[in-house]
Amino acid sequence: CGIVGFVGQRQAADVLVEGLSKLEYRGYDSAGVAVIEDGEIEIRKCKGRLANLSSKLKDEPVHGTMGIGHTRWATHGEPSDVNSHPHSNTSETISVVHNGIIENYLKLREKLEAKGYKFFSQTDTEVIPNLIDYYYKGDLLEAVKKATTKMEGSYAIGVISKNEPGKLVAVRKDSPLIVGLGKDEFFIASDIPAVLNYTRDVYLLEDKEFVVMTKDGVTLYDEDGEMVNKDVYHVTWDA
Ligand code: GLU
Repeated sequence: CGIVGFVGQRQAADVLVEGLSKLEYRGYDSAGVAVIEDGEIEIRKCKGRLANLSSKLKDEPVHGTMGIGHTRWATHGEPSDVNSHPHSNTSETISVVHNGIIENYLKLREKLEAKGYKFFSQTDTEVIPNLIDYYYKGDLLEAVKKATTKMEGSYAIGVISKNEPGKLVAVRKDSPLIVGLGKDEFFIASDIPAVLNYTRDVYLLEDKEFVVMTKDGVTLYDEDGEMVNKDVYHVTWDA
């Protein structure tokens, strides 16, 4: 279970797969990426090793300079292509990678189904993009914030939307997540080794700190919407 996210100038799929390979030690059964290509979210994901994802990406490449990636360790729903992350909302405008467990997902899923949302996987995660969509009124950060007030359990999530194509939103609670600060490129990751090929400057996030990242920079907010000023942690060791 690992998360990587990227916003910058490079081909995102390459950075995401490379970053995920540095998180393989955390264990996983499936892998996937979502990349914004020409204003649409393109997802490639499959059960099995990262090498399977790489060969899928070779056959069906994705082009774009921002995206999210995931290695899954299944907790809800067997390892399979459909259950692999990223997961999207029913209308496929929002995609999410998630590490952790949403303990109240059944209740959330029933509520969302009653409102017309459709579910295609057996995961707890699939409620997250749909919940964000339910609260989306034109501001991805606000929608993610609202959604997290209903999510019980543990999570580190990376979120992208085709309605705000240059933006990546992330937050954690009881699952690890760091931010990598490069030169005109920014990262999220479950752990520092995933970004060390690109930068040694990171933010170590606390629970319920919200990250908004574009190619122009990173802003952190607390749950009340106040901006958080955090010291940059400079990594001096090698992975
Ligand atoms: N609970 C989620 C799932 O089973 C995420 C698992 C993970 O942390 O990789 O899909």
